[in-house]
This record gives sequence, C-alpha cells and structure tokens, in this order.
Amino acid sequence: MKFSPDIHSLCCPKCRDGMEPLSHEGVTIDRCTGCEGLWFDGNEADHLKSLPGSEALDSGSARKGRRYNEHDAINCPHCARQMERTADWKQTHIWFEICREHGVFMDAGEFTDLKHETLSDKLRSFLKGHRPA
Ligand SMILES: [Zn+2]
Ligand SMILES: [Zn+2]
Repeated sequence: MKFSPDIHSLCCPKCRDGMEPLSHEGVTIDRCTGCEGLWFDGNEADHLKSLPGSEALDSGSARKGRRYNEHDAINCPHCARQMERTADWKQTHIWFEICREHGVFMDAGEFTDLKHETLSDKLRSFLKGHRPA
C-alpha cells in the first residue's frame, strides 16, 4: 500500500477545518486545528501506540472529542468514501472511523485512551506477583 506524501492539503473529515502535520519519532500524522481530531495514515496509529510519549500528539480536549464523536457519518479525506465506524477490538468503548484503504480518524482524546490502556496493561502485568499481600 502506498500513501500520498501530500498530506498537508487534507481537511478534517469531521469538521472541515484545516489539518496540521505533527511528528513523533519520524512518524507524521495530521491534527485538525478545529476539533483536534487525529488522522493516521495506514497503520500509523498502531505503530505510534507502541512508541513512548506518543500520547503528546493527542493534546486536544477529550471533552471536545466526545462531543464530535456523536457526529459519526464522515468521509475519508483521501477518497471521499464514507468511513466505517469501528470499535477498538480490546477497548470496545472507543469508537473511531476507518477507511480500509487510507487510514484512521480518531477524535481528540481517543488515542490517549487507547494508549493509556496499553500502558496500564503493561503495568498490570509488571506488577503481577510484586504486590504486597
Ligand atoms: Zn476537525
Ligand atoms: Zn479512503
């Protein structure tokens, strides 16, 4: 799969505001300047989830994100087809939009939520057996 390098002209699929590129460890995603939702090309979300500190990309307000989360019929900014709404397979309370060809859109706060669960899972398994009786 190949992605267009011209990601700077994207506009937000949710609120139609502009997107600004943000990088973490060489991975560049786009964040909406309006609703602060995040666009991840291809499997960038999975990749970033495993990188320490990547939640800093998701600096938008989760409260704002939840409000926009109700607005769920959005089209892919690349191919304009309606995106599928899907829940994270592990954390079924987190819903995001996906275009199987181009990427994933998450409302502000959703990526942090996903990431947080990953961290606390790790922590839980780390603490297992070390907890005082
Ligand atoms: Zn937006
Ligand atoms: Zn698409």
